[in-house]
Amino acid sequence: MANLTFAPGPSKVYDKLSRYFQDAFDQGILSANHRSAVFMDLYKETERLFKEKLEVPADYRLLFTSSATENWEIITQSIVQGHSYHIYSGSFGKKWFGFAQHILPKTTALVLDKNQEIQVDALDIDTEADLIAITQNETSNATQVRNETISALGTRFPDKMIAVDTTSSMAGIYLDFRAADIWYSSVQKCFGMPAGLGLLVLSPRAVAKVKAKGEQGRYNSLSFMLENADSYQTHYTPNVLAIYLLNRVLTDMPSIAETQDKTETRMRKLESVVASSQSLGFLVSNAATRSRTVLGVSGEEAFIKEIKQAAEAQGMTLGGGYGPLKATSFRIANFPAITDAEFEKLVDFLASYP
Ligand SMILES: *Cc1c(COP(=O)(O)O)cnc(C)c1O
Repeated sequence: MANLTFAPGPSKVYDKLSRYFQDAFDQGILSANHRSAVFMDLYKETERLFKEKLEVPADYRLLFTSSATENWEIITQSIVQGHSYHIYSGSFGKKWFGFAQHILPKTTALVLDKNQEIQVDALDIDTEADLIAITQNETSNATQVRNETISALGTRFPDKMIAVDTTSSMAGIYLDFRAADIWYSSVQKCFGMPAGLGLLVLSPRAVAKVKAKGEQGRYNSLSFMLENADSYQTHYTPNVLAIYLLNRVLTDMPSIAETQDKTETRMRKLESVVASSQSLGFLVSNAATRSRTVLGVSGEEAFIKEIKQAAEAQGMTLGGGYGPLKATSFRIANFPAITDAEFEKLVDFLASYP
């Protein structure tokens, strides 16, 4: 048996997937043509379940892409007309900014420290910036931007569009989808699935902006994707297996309110273990910017190495630190696919480091 992973992506998949893989095979879905009624029904039902379980407004659209990374490019290419303004503190936000800047060199950014909250009232964003890019859950440094902050951004800048990276939080916490027009994720984090499917959620206002920009001709031009999605089809032969698994995972999923409660309860438990330990430290000291789905724990380089090895010996893999934080931190995914028993085992392990 492979070790149980607490890495925040790719992360532990739902135990039930082994059955769902077999079901997909047995039901013949793996050979279904993506222009057939079988696929169109699957897309339609998956979008319906997605909106129901995650409380996404009925008039928003769900599009399937290959990854969150692809969504970075799609947003700049097909939605941004002037340039985008990025607010970030970690590696994923920085990468998004980099890809956007490659397409539109005028792209600007505000870089924050991981303990710094966005001061919405103090922001000075030029008029040519028509999109604000937020990494709601920054997986690399385990920080978050609260729903209230995204809401406040929308209130302060009603003419700009807000795009939100929720790759490691969507399906793990409650997100206020009305507060922004563009949301995206990947399924290998809180959805508890293997990698290979990106999700892109657009409000009617975002769809209207795609039409206004009129960008077309690329395989992943949003206008082309939306045209296909109008009849529940996709712009290329899609990852039907992943869409099928997503459908099954969504079917099993409790309400997002219930998930949110569970995520929060577990994170508080982890936080109290770290708070009462001398050897474990918070990577993010400001509780307001600390992620609810990924906990970053910091420590001396030698200690981090030792605790990761000790966890391995007990059948658990801790997530490594990311990028510049690799040697002095580890990360723990607080994702729904991890069972209560598995979570308790981790808590007991960490509590043995007083
Ligand atoms: C994992 C992650 C990505 C990249 O996801 P891919 O599916 O590999 O493209 C982007 N942003 C955040 C915040 C992530 O956690």
